[in-house]
Amino acid sequence: MGERFHFVCHECTEEGVYEDRDEALDVKNDHVAATEHRVSMENISERPA
Ligand SMILES: [Zn+2]
Repeated sequence: MGERFHFVCHECTEEGVYEDRDEALDVKNDHVAATEHRVSMENISERPA
């Protein structure tokens, strides 16, 4: 529960936060396929302190 993935493009302003890993990957892969931009994605899920 509570998983969140932050997708961000390093070459334009495209970014987003998704709760579903597969959805985030789809967006990431679509952006790469469409633009050949370099993007990264990280898990920003809240973790216990
Ligand atoms: Zn981009």
